[in-house]
Amino acid sequence: MPGQWSHLYNSPRWRRLRAAHLHEHPCCVMCLAQGYDTTATVVDHRCPHHGNLRLFFDPSNLQSLCKPHHDSSKQWEERRGIEPGCDANGNPLDARHPWNQRARSTS
Ligand SMILES: [Zn+2]
Repeated sequence: MPGQWSHLYNSPRWRRLRAAHLHEHPCCVMCLAQGYDTTATVVDHRCPHHGNLRLFFDPSNLQSLCKPHHDSSKQWEERRGIEPGCDANGNPLDARHPWNQRARSTS
């Protein structure tokens, strides 16, 4: 999230990476999982980077999201408290993570 890490989000390296990711993955992955091809406007880090440059600039740690999904998933995490960390495939370890629940998400 911008703010604390704004120097990372403002870096030319991130801008290039973000643009390339949206070019390659133009649709929100959560919408795709529900059968909608909504244009993504946010590139999200699947594993929270907490300022870790390897995670921040790792292309496999990125996912395209629409703004509503980005905001709702972040609010959900903040509300419920999701365990950080991911496995070798980049999937969150916490089974309660929205990424692991998209198949049975409501409405
Ligand atoms: Zn979406």
